[in-house]
Amino acid sequence: MSRAPEVTQRLRVDPVACEGIGLCAQVADRLIELDRWGYPIVAGDLDRSQVKEARRAVRACPRRALWLEETAEGDRR
Ligand code: SF4
Repeated sequence: MSRAPEVTQRLRVDPVACEGIGLCAQVADRLIELDRWGYPIVAGDLDRSQVKEARRAVRACPRRALWLEETAEGDRR
């Protein structure tokens, strides 16, 4: 019997929409770092305790360049 794939969430960034202002990294400093140009580098798969912080970062983004995406095991991109 096969197990259902485990679903996790991760942050994604639209590099075209992002303006590199860095508000998301201020709101979720444990999940998002900024590169030297001020663009976000996001954490990989999030555990439950990190999802709430990630949602705050998504809401804080003035460009709607950040979102949460569900990923299943074996569907890592
Ligand atoms: S808050 Fe939005 S626009 Fe600003 S750096 Fe983060 S993702 Fe980019």
